[in-house]
Amino acid sequence: MRRALITGITGQDGQYLAELLHEKQYEVFGLVKGQNNPRIDTIRTEYPYVEIVEGDLQDLSSLVGVLEQVQPDEVYNLGAISFVALSFKQAELTANVTGLGVLRLLEAVRMVGGSQNNQIRFYQASSSEMFGKVRESPQTEATPFYPRSPYGVAKVFGHDITVNYRDSYGLFACSGILFNHESPRRGMEFVTRKVTNAVARIKLGLQEKLVLGNLDPRRDWGFAGDYVRAMWQMLQQDSPQDYVVATGRTHSVRNFVDLAFKHTGIDDWERFVEQDPRFFRPAEVDLLVGDATKAHTELGWKPEVGFEDLVAMMVDHDLRLEARKAGIPLP
Ligand code: NDP
Repeated sequence: MRRALITGITGQDGQYLAELLHEKQYEVFGLVKGQNNPRIDTIRTEYPYVEIVEGDLQDLSSLVGVLEQVQPDEVYNLGAISFVALSFKQAELTANVTGLGVLRLLEAVRMVGGSQNNQIRFYQASSSEMFGKVRESPQTEATPFYPRSPYGVAKVFGHDITVNYRDSYGLFACSGILFNHESPRRGMEFVTRKVTNAVARIKLGLQEKLVLGNLDPRRDWGFAGDYVRAMWQMLQQDSPQDYVVATGRTHSVRNFVDLAFKHTGIDDWERFVEQDPRFFRPAEVDLLVGDATKAHTELGWKPEVGFEDLVAMMVDHDLRLEARKAGIPLP
């Protein structure tokens, strides 16, 4: 049985990846940090096949200990301070976890797993936010980075140090440059989930307003379940490389809001939506749209869930969730 260690197991992608690897008969280990984190209980109850191990991306010795204990074949580094708005408020923490955390984990892999002919394969969760102020569109693996947030800057470090450890020590280390991907498991702080949850609550009469920042930015949004497949596929190749994973289609936040409301039968949604400059980013990224040709041709990866179905899936999930919580029948 192959063994995989996932950091960020309590996050959106960690959960989808754990399911995928379990289906593929892996023994799955999930790294959790801290105490009294209710999300760890969710993993224990909803993913009983995941073996919980304790460690923190800020603590090298804990990572070395976990790798010695787990002896994984594959390590997926999904752990991060991943919310761009928070990264502006806690820039140093973001640099430490999202940036230096990658270095610590690579170093732990190198120390525990050896260097040349290393058996441990490593995946780094890089991000389209590294492109930021875009130099060309669509963005490929060769597009220069110009990050526009402390999160993006930390991800550039994580990406570059992954490439550097591959070049310097011969590690089997890949970096997936993933564009935005969403799902019903997305954290409530992210704009897509904030929208679908508010739309569900407004539809059910539980909330009156949805307050958002800038509605104009455009993003390339895919489904998280599709994107974790690409992570696994990268680690099954003969040689380690970096890949852009994206749908190649963009939509504005306004498009997302429009579709979400209309899915519930509310067409005149503008009366429910307010814009508040407090939710604007200090520096916004431009139009992000990815060119995933390399992932299509070399990995055989293709997204299966389209934008409209993704929005509908999230709204339907939140309608059921909020109706159940409030004890009211679905409209
Ligand atoms: P989430 O925000 O849902 O999950 C982040 C995870 O990181 C959580 O499990 C969190 O654990 C963990 N974490 C935070 N701090 C630490 C730490 N000090 N040590 C160990 N773990 C820590 O992210 P997603 O699942 O959406 O994304 C997965 C990865 O992919 C992230 O690195 C993200 O930046 C990246 N990415 C995501 C994209 C997306 O659109 N979703 C796009 C491109 C990249 P806890 O519960 O303890 O807080």
